[in-house]
Amino acid sequence: MFETLQQQPADKILELVAMYREDPRADKVDLGVGVYKDATGLTPVMRAVKAAEHTLWETQDSKVYTGLAGDPAFADAMIDLVLSGAVPRANVAAAATPGGTGAVRQSFELIQMANAGARVFVSNPTWPNHISMLNYLGIEMVPYRYFDEETRGVDFDGMLADLKTARKGDVVLLHGCCHNPTGANLNSAEWDAVIGVLLETGATPMIDIAYQGFGDGLDADAAATRKLVAAVPECIIAASCSKNFGIYRERTGLLMVVNNAGDATALNQSTLAYLNRQNFSFPPDHGARLVTMILTDPALRADWQSELEDVRQSMLGLRTALADELQRLSNSDRFGFLAQHRGMFSRLGTTPEMVEKLRKDHGIYMVGDSRMNIAGLNAQTVPILAKAIIDAGI
Ligand code: PMP
Repeated sequence: MFETLQQQPADKILELVAMYREDPRADKVDLGVGVYKDATGLTPVMRAVKAAEHTLWETQDSKVYTGLAGDPAFADAMIDLVLSGAVPRANVAAAATPGGTGAVRQSFELIQMANAGARVFVSNPTWPNHISMLNYLGIEMVPYRYFDEETRGVDFDGMLADLKTARKGDVVLLHGCCHNPTGANLNSAEWDAVIGVLLETGATPMIDIAYQGFGDGLDADAAATRKLVAAVPECIIAASCSKNFGIYRERTGLLMVVNNAGDATALNQSTLAYLNRQNFSFPPDHGARLVTMILTDPALRADWQSELEDVRQSMLGLRTALADELQRLSNSDRFGFLAQHRGMFSRLGTTPEMVEKLRKDHGIYMVGDSRMNIAGLNAQTVPILAKAIIDAGI
């Protein structure tokens, strides 16, 4: 029967990783895959994670199943981290999932279960996995304008006009902070306007928050999400712990469903547990347990926050350094957007041909849509990248 299978499109980013690995040039620069790297190119285990793992190894006396929604203490800790009391805890149903991807996937299934005809509005562009999962599940997708190729900021008028065409029963997928792949984000007044349109249309918001702490800080990055959940009757939030705890391979995420209008939390909670049961039964526990230990132990939490803040500052420093160097070389402000963008990514805003030229001529690897992982840079490679961008005529 398997002869009926067709080749699926290869993952562009993983292809890039393989090409980079085979490139013999010593001064090659990897701005591809979306993981944080320190100045030496490593993705370290965070200190608090190591410490929690040590304690867990010493104290954990059973690995028996948790609940279908994971350990409730993990949900409590993460709801507090993301929402910080923006809505009463009783309004939030939550289930642990395998990573943020699992939370997004379970969200889509929940949407389909609640309304088989729901359309999901996604930013153009968005994280490619949003699109492939929606296609896989056969959910209709409506792109809304987002990135302004000219300013490299948000085409906010276009975005708002497109969101106004959503209806009750549709879902609007928003990135809570640090938009992937562009790095361009809404300001606070723009979030207010989006909330206004959601209330007007009755569409349900879904927030994907995968980089809390990577942009303007833990609270600042969640501010829009908190404001939104408090203002709308219902909302879905998919949170990832992969980046801000550096536990990519532990597959740790939380799906939250907020209901402010009535008393739907128990029903939502049992639906999330049911959906987990259908797909994988019990969610992974190791990463979730580490996150819980870190968030609930004041010393571990303080150490985690301080290391996360160092990570954030290092990315901001690289942004500024790159924008400054480009300003010096180009004698213009046209790359100033790099310092305005937030999170791990910036979209340079150039053609696939130029991206290819940067790779071939300069050994600089970025995704074909010109998304750069800013954390892939260091003090030595910032000038190399800036010079290559100018030499290529971008
Ligand atoms: N959402 C977005 C926008 C992301 O960029 C990512 C990570 N690339 C995720 C969700 C999920 O990450 P993970 O499954 O590794 O937690």
